[in-house]
Amino acid sequence: MMDVGRHPKIELFTFSEVEEVSGFVGNFRVKIRKKARYVRADECNACGECAKVCPVVVPDEYQQGFSSRKAIYMPFAQAVPSAYILDMSHCLGTNPIACGKCSKACAKKCIDYDMQDEIVEREVGAIIVATGLEVYDPRPLDEFGYTRFENVITSMEFERLICAGGPTAGHFIRPTDRRLPKTVGFIQCVGSRATKRGNRYCSNICCMNTVKDTLLLKDHYPDVQCKVFYMDMRAFGKGFEEMYRRSKEEGVQYIRGIPGDIYEDPVTKNLLLLVENTMTGKVEEHELEMVVLAVGLQARPEQKELQKLLTLSNTADGFLLESHPKLKPVDAPTQGVFFAGCVEAPKDIKDSVTQAGAAAARAGILLNAGQVTIEAITSMLDPSRCSFCGLCSRVCPYHAIIPPDRKKGQYPVFIEAACAGCGACAAECPEDAISMRHFRDEQILAQIEAILAEKPEQKILAFACNWCSYAGGDNAGTARLQYPPSVRLIRTMCSGRVDEKFVWYGFKLGAPIVLVSGCHFADCHYINAVQWTQRRVERLWDKLEKKGIRPERLQLEWISAAEGQKFARVMRELEELRQKVTAEEIRQTMEILKDYEPLKRETAVAAAST
Ligand code: SF4
Ligand code: SF4
Repeated sequence: MMDVGRHPKIELFTFSEVEEVSGFVGNFRVKIRKKARYVRADECNACGECAKVCPVVVPDEYQQGFSSRKAIYMPFAQAVPSAYILDMSHCLGTNPIACGKCSKACAKKCIDYDMQDEIVEREVGAIIVATGLEVYDPRPLDEFGYTRFENVITSMEFERLICAGGPTAGHFIRPTDRRLPKTVGFIQCVGSRATKRGNRYCSNICCMNTVKDTLLLKDHYPDVQCKVFYMDMRAFGKGFEEMYRRSKEEGVQYIRGIPGDIYEDPVTKNLLLLVENTMTGKVEEHELEMVVLAVGLQARPEQKELQKLLTLSNTADGFLLESHPKLKPVDAPTQGVFFAGCVEAPKDIKDSVTQAGAAAARAGILLNAGQVTIEAITSMLDPSRCSFCGLCSRVCPYHAIIPPDRKKGQYPVFIEAACAGCGACAAECPEDAISMRHFRDEQILAQIEAILAEKPEQKILAFACNWCSYAGGDNAGTARLQYPPSVRLIRTMCSGRVDEKFVWYGFKLGAPIVLVSGCHFADCHYINAVQWTQRRVERLWDKLEKKGIRPERLQLEWISAAEGQKFARVMRELEELRQKVTAEEIRQTMEILKDYEPLKRETAVAAAST
């Protein structure tokens, strides 16, 4: 951290917030609010004279409330910059009660009660998001007694108590009587892997954190008895299994079972745990002097704001979604934005550092190239058709289209470097003024024709998003899952690319069933393009009904890349549906749509030119 602060090429903004991000890859403009710290950091030499005279005492957040700090304080010993900061919410200030003691005590006169927030702007080529994590708050899990018993602490509090720089200078004591506990229990998965309360996912670090904590305790105090209550111990990383084994060799007891309740002996303040040992099937009672809850990790609430600023999306568990989980694990879906650490998923230090290195390298490659290479799947405008409606700019999840201005006769401007090629704009444009450089209308319509050229009544026409449902089909295939051979897939980059005309054309050529399938809302690889898919399909259902075509013949399904089984099941269900569509029904639909021409304009232009 100190190195970062001193690095000549790193400008560090601490106690600051990103207010606005505009632009695109290679050309971002970032507005930053430097919050007033009421102490001039460049002047302060961290002598601490101000804090000595400050009369206000509040709990120290960094020490998890085990010790106190003053209203003017140093956040922690290695803070960068090495300067004091004034917590205005607790400061007595100079008004209405004149305090001002710190200002008088400061020989360098660097305290300024009137300091204001400052807005600065910077131009950057790439952005790395590394906002860290939040630990799970165990208060809703009252059965573990965190809110009722002082000797129940969290793993975070344990870290401060055992740390040489902590409130007890590294002497591990229990809160009620400030003496070394003889028996310490650790309860795993607090707030993790839960279906009802807490988070459903595994927090990744808690098992090894506890193993490390037991080794620390055994190293400092070999006579302390440690018991770990767990569901599974997940020691999957390099050297982790050895560490777990070493902890057992040191005498740490691992008991498979999570206690259902904790009671306190009112006299001794010891804790009684009732637990079913799932290895023996017996209910055991354990008396412990202290209990540590291995709390899980979760995304920081502030992340939501950043998500909006950078047009990112998150997964169902609240962490940010990467561009591709296997092939682009540190890239955000927005070009030029990268992830490092727990902003993307719970991680330990080693994985966070590895990912940070990868993110820095990815950003470095981009910046050193000096120019951006984009895939040839972006959108193009034919201004002669544009009616200035602005729909394209509204649907673009990447803000890659500057809206048109009818009064000024200004057509929408497509920023190619920002376009991710989802095709939502091309599908939504009512005038067919937008085409894609790949996955062109003509290419997709030709596939529809080829699929339905023979025995169309036996085919299911399925549009599948490249990232999710199409990959789900691959997954079903590699898992050797069976699904009906009547299904014919057409790959699009996003379900948002599926234009109404593709559906109409499929029905016109005799398709009994048409499927539009894409990513689940939380997993959309194009931020929120699936929302437009849903709206379009809903519109189509209404239109089908009005035309006398059964809306059920158009199906919409969300299938993720990992859901091979769901893919196969959906396809079997569609086959059942297909068998219920009669030849007469198909004939009637073809009759209703007989005049439908998907490329009417092109045909008209071609006819006019001959
Ligand atoms: S949606 Fe089509 S018609 Fe409307 S502004 Fe965009 S390009 Fe023009
Ligand atoms: S293809 Fe997608 S990302 Fe590109 S301009 Fe159109 S809506 Fe925006």
